[in-house]
Amino acid sequence: MNVLVINCGSSSLKYQLIDSITENVLAVGLCERIGIDGSTLKYTPQGGEKIQVVSPMPNHEVAIKMVLDALVNEEYGVIKSLDEINAVGHRVVHGGEKFASSVVITDEVMKAIEECNELAPLHNPANLIGINACKALIDVPMVAVFDTAFHQTMPAEAYMYGLPYEYYEKHKIRRYGFHGTSHSYVSKRAMDIAGLDPNNSKIIVCHLGNGASVSAVLNGKSIDTSMGLTPLEGLIMGTRSGDLDPAIVDFIANKENISVDEVNTVLNKKSGVAGISGVSSDFRDLDNAADEGHERAQLALDMFNYRVVKYIGAYIGALGGVDAIVFTAGVGENNGIMRKQVMSRLAFLDVTMDDEKNKVRGEEMIVSTPDSKVKVIVVPTNEELAIARETVALVK
Ligand code: ADP
Repeated sequence: MNVLVINCGSSSLKYQLIDSITENVLAVGLCERIGIDGSTLKYTPQGGEKIQVVSPMPNHEVAIKMVLDALVNEEYGVIKSLDEINAVGHRVVHGGEKFASSVVITDEVMKAIEECNELAPLHNPANLIGINACKALIDVPMVAVFDTAFHQTMPAEAYMYGLPYEYYEKHKIRRYGFHGTSHSYVSKRAMDIAGLDPNNSKIIVCHLGNGASVSAVLNGKSIDTSMGLTPLEGLIMGTRSGDLDPAIVDFIANKENISVDEVNTVLNKKSGVAGISGVSSDFRDLDNAADEGHERAQLALDMFNYRVVKYIGAYIGALGGVDAIVFTAGVGENNGIMRKQVMSRLAFLDVTMDDEKNKVRGEEMIVSTPDSKVKVIVVPTNEELAIARETVALVK
């Protein structure tokens, strides 16, 4: 069975066609600048060359039509006809409290996703546009996989904020958490790799990419995570500030004579390691700059690591111990120096790293020594595969 996985943003659309039996990626790519001049389709068939087509994409329906045309193209297509696409799995950012797991998309589901729009005004409307565009072009079962669903098992003591309770009742203000598909997939892989009992395990997952979050997973269920009502909370990220004193918002607005909306943009787009260093949001650039003696790049890296250590510490408390600490996403999978620095600060846990194994990049590997009390594991995340698996499980 072939599953088309779609991750639709406001002006972009990432896709993969996955054979669910072999779990091979038959084709992968993205559409960029949808609705903007210079729309581009990027498409790479399995084992083939990357193709780039610049062609107007006034809307998402045109973009998806181009993807489908590429998939069946005589020269570089990977399937003979669209009948070979058996289901579509859509990444949906916010499922609010309505969705604690993936669902087959029906009219009621579409309505419920729309009701979550105000919780993710930049993402959910784009996800819905992607679903509608797909529905207009192919008639197969479709599944919504939510970024928030895995964290719906958090207890109230973890998801409530110290605000008047009525704000939760009236406006649904609470911690939701994101990257759920990744935290779920990675924690399950870690249990398999380390031979941990799914019903008796304490795992901390560090998803460290451009967006970054940590989660505490008790017996396979998320009990806390660092992102909150929105993805702004928690770790210091590429361009997001992460945790700060809420009074700072008003303070900046007054001092800089800008609106709360503008402060929000600063906190989301101009802060984090990019804002601190003044160099880049990309950790490779920061590593290079720090190596050349750039002090603020070094400070940004130190602050990033320190915040990760703080969250791991907090979640050891929340879990009442820890069996495994897992690193994933661009930085977590590739940056052994960061992993080593973070774990060195946690040496009191009797954790020892295997420096040779810790050189690994983008491969599953236990990077602690066999006698280490806590296992440290690298697991490359694969949200598309997780979405394809969820889709197959629901439409079978
Ligand atoms: P997102 O999906 O949130 O955009 P990613 O998970 O792709 O983010 O992570 C992007 C980050 O990962 C960048 O800061 C980049 O520098 C870092 N990264 C990616 N590949 C490597 C690598 N080979 N070595 C070190 N860092 C890397």
